Amino acid sequence: MKRIIRYKDKKNSSGRIKDGVLVLDISSRLSLKEQQEHIEILTRRLLGKLAGLDSGTLTGLGQGEIYNHGQLQELARRINDEFYGFPLRGIRFYQQNSIWGSCNYRKGTIHISHRLQGAPEELLHYVVVHELCHLKVPNHSRAFWDLVARGCPEYKKYRKLLQVYGMGRDLRRANENI
Ligand SMILES: [Zn+2]
Repeated sequence: MKRIIRYKDKKNSSGRIKDGVLVLDISSRLSLKEQQEHIEILTRRLLGKLAGLDSGTLTGLGQGEIYNHGQLQELARRINDEFYGFPLRGIRFYQQNSIWGSCNYRKGTIHISHRLQGAPEELLHYVVVHELCHLKVPNHSRAFWDLVARGCPEYKKYRKLLQVYGMGRDLRRANENI
């Protein structure tokens, strides 16, 4: 989701979602650190609202353990055995910033973005299910989502959560750069 940040000479910061864009009005009277905090809090709150999540769920985001390749392979095998039985030849984390995962269904291989190595397991689970289903259906048709729902019944929630997770992660990195 696109985000516009405007700095205004007013006491309070506020934010809203307008035409699919996150618009934040941040008080210019605050310190740089406070402004960053307001940006982060408002972004979380608004995206959380969009995803229908309570703030407790959101606070926990991004605090998962760090997964390695072996754990990812084990998770994917477990999900594939239980729900699908597709011809999966290999799955690994890959340096990838613009997408969460990709699937080469001819080769039967899946790449998962390194950004998910520290994600909560439910999110990683959803992305693995998503890419596994691309081994069978290469597009995002109704049939594809029906297949996703088998391994991840709450996939709609996790799609939204993934957006929040991505944005929270970008924000943390932005804060580190100050
Ligand atoms: Zn997809």
